[in-house]
Amino acid sequence: MYYTSTRDKSVRVTASEAITKGISSDGGLFVPTEIPKISKEFVNELIPLSYIERAKRVLELYLTDFSKEEIAYCVEGAYKKGKFTSEKVSPIYKLSDSEYVLELWRGPTCAFKDMALQLLPYLLTTSSEKTLKDTEIVILVATSGDTGKAALEGFKDVPNTKILVFYPVDGVSPMQKLQMTTQEGENVSVCAIEGNFDDAQSGVKAIFTDKDIEKKFKENGLAFSSANSINWGRLVPQIVYYVSAYCDMVESGAVKLGEEINVVVPTGNFGNILAAYYAKEMGIPVKTLVCASNANNVLTDFLKTGTYDRNRSFYCTTSPSMDILISSNLERLLFHLCGENDATVRDWMNKLSTDGKYTVTDSVFSQIKSIFAAGCCDDKATKETIADVFNSKNYLCDTHTAVAVNVYKNYVENSGDNTPTVIASTANPYKFSASVLSAISDKIQADNEFDMVDELFAASGEPVPPQLATLKGKSPRFTKVCNKADMKQVVFDMLGI
Ligand SMILES: *Cc1c(COP(=O)(O)O)cnc(C)c1O
Repeated sequence: MYYTSTRDKSVRVTASEAITKGISSDGGLFVPTEIPKISKEFVNELIPLSYIERAKRVLELYLTDFSKEEIAYCVEGAYKKGKFTSEKVSPIYKLSDSEYVLELWRGPTCAFKDMALQLLPYLLTTSSEKTLKDTEIVILVATSGDTGKAALEGFKDVPNTKILVFYPVDGVSPMQKLQMTTQEGENVSVCAIEGNFDDAQSGVKAIFTDKDIEKKFKENGLAFSSANSINWGRLVPQIVYYVSAYCDMVESGAVKLGEEINVVVPTGNFGNILAAYYAKEMGIPVKTLVCASNANNVLTDFLKTGTYDRNRSFYCTTSPSMDILISSNLERLLFHLCGENDATVRDWMNKLSTDGKYTVTDSVFSQIKSIFAAGCCDDKATKETIADVFNSKNYLCDTHTAVAVNVYKNYVENSGDNTPTVIASTANPYKFSASVLSAISDKIQADNEFDMVDELFAASGEPVPPQLATLKGKSPRFTKVCNKADMKQVVFDMLGI
C-alpha cells in the first residue's frame, strides 16, 4: 500500500516515508491510496484476541513496508503490561443498554492521546531506520494540552530523537500545564506561546515547510517530524481502537456480529473521529458518526451546512483540548469524499487560509450528511451533563466526554435513533478537576489544584491516577513563554543550531 498527498496526487510514498516526514512538502497530508477492507470473518477472528494481537492484525493492513516482526516489536512495546491501567487497554463501560463509553484514557498521561503516542515513537524510529539513516529526528508539537504531554512521555529519552512542544499559554488546564512543564528526559523541551492553539499549530506547520530551516537541518543531520494528528503514524493507531471496540461490543453481547453501532466523538482537530471514519470504510458496521463540539462549533456548522467558516469568535472553554477553529484532519476526509481530487482540496485549503472559509460541492456535502451527525454544547450544558451522568449512572466523566454525552443525548432525542452507541471518552476527570468538581459539588473549599483533586476524590470516590497525584510538589523545569512570531528562533535555540 502507498500513501499520497491530499494536495498533490502524484506523490507516492511508503508508510515509513509518510510517518517519517509527518507532512507532505506541498503542505498536504498523507492519506492511503486505498482503504483496506476487512470482512466479517476477519472481525470474528479478532474477537478472542488481546488488544495487542488485534492491533497487529489491523496495522499490518496499513504498514505494508513493515515486517511482521517490526510490527510486533512496535505494538508489544507500546501496549505492554503495566503501561495502561486496564488489561483491555481501552475498555468499554456500559452506561445503559444502548450507551457504551470507550475509555481511551487508561494510559500514562490520562488522555486518549496515549493510545497513539505510546506507539508513534516505535513506528517513527522503525520507519526512520528504513528511510533516513544517521539522522536525528526532531519532533515538533503544537498542543491544545493533551498531545504535548503524551508526546513528551512517548518520546522521552528515545535515542536519536528530540522533542519540542509549544502550548498556548492560557489555553490549557493547570494540571495539563504542570504535566508538561515538569516533564523529565534529556531530549525534551517545552515552550508556551502567547496565542491560542491555532496559532501554535500554524506556527508549527509553517516551520515544517520552511525551506531555510530544511536546509539548516540537513547541514546539522536533523530532520523534522510531527507527533500531531497530521502525522499518519498518529492516526493509524487510533483506527485500531475502533475496530477493537466493535469486537468488545460483540464480545459483551451489546450487538451481534455484523449489527451496526453509532460512534460519538468529542472533536477538536478531527483526528479521532477520522480514525472512526477509516474503521467504518474498512468495513466495521458503523451507521452514524456523531461529531461533538464545544462552543467552538465550527465543525457542527460545517457538517450541517457544507460551509467551513473559521471567521468567528474563539472561546476558551472547560474542554480546552477541543478549543480549535482549524481542524486539520478534515482535509483528509475531504480528499476521500471528493473523489481524490487534489486540485479541489488545494482550492478549498487556499480559500481557508485567505478568506477563512470555503464551501464544499453538493456531492461532498450529501456524502457528509449520509455519514455524519453533529452537535455542540456550551460549558453550562457540559457541567450539567457531568452532574447528570454522575448522579444517575454513578459514572464520573471529564468535560470533553461530557460534551460527547450531551450531544449524543440531543442526537437521540432529535433522530429517535437507538442504535447501540460507543461514546469516546477522551480524558480522565482529574485532568480537569476544577470543572468536574464544580459540576458535582456546590461548596468547593480548595484553592489550589491538588486540594481540588483531594476534594474531587472525597466527593466522587473515583481513584486518583498516581501519575497525576505525584506531580504535587514537583517544580517546573520549563517556564519560557514566547511570542508566536518567534517560534522559529525558539526551535533553533532549543536545538543549539
Ligand atoms: C485531543 C483531544 C480531543 C480532540 O481530539 P481530536 O482528535 O483533535 O479531534 C478531545 N478530547 C481530549 C481530552 C483531547 O485530548
